[in-house]
Order: sequence, then structure tokens, then C-alpha cells
Amino acid sequence: MPGCPPDAPSARVPTEGPTGETEWQFTGLLEMLVCPVCKSAVTLLDDQSGLKCPSCRRVYPVRDDIPVMLPEEASIANE
Ligand SMILES: [Zn+2]
Repeated sequence: MPGCPPDAPSARVPTEGPTGETEWQFTGLLEMLVCPVCKSAVTLLDDQSGLKCPSCRRVYPVRDDIPVMLPEEASIANE
């Protein structure tokens, strides 16, 4: 058996805190969060109380800094 590489490079990348406006820990995750119903990227509300889907207008609550991306927990904005 040919030898394996002695140390494979780690996939871990050091992360730095956000450099500005928000102190939310999941800010970096925000772009990965999508509406489970229509798969659109959600946006953070101005008051940071929830995440809104621009397509279906569901607003997902944020509890203890953790977004709850469940359709049954979402409210629907009626704007
Ligand atoms: Zn949606």
C-alpha cells in the first residue's frame, strides 16, 4: 500500500468576528439561510427580530440569537 500523505491540510479556516454593524454570530451564515418553503434567501429585519423571505413573505423568528427556520413557526407579513 502506498503511503498516505502525512498530514492532509485541514479544511478549517480561522474565522474572525464581524467588523462592524452587527454582532450577530450567525451573520456569516445569513447568506446560507434560505426559506424552507420556497428556497429564497432570507433577509434580516431592520430590528433584527426575525428573518424575512422576500418571496413568500414569511417571517421566521429569531430566538436566543438562533434563527428558527421552520414554516410552522413563521408568521406571514401582510404588507
Ligand atoms: Zn419563502
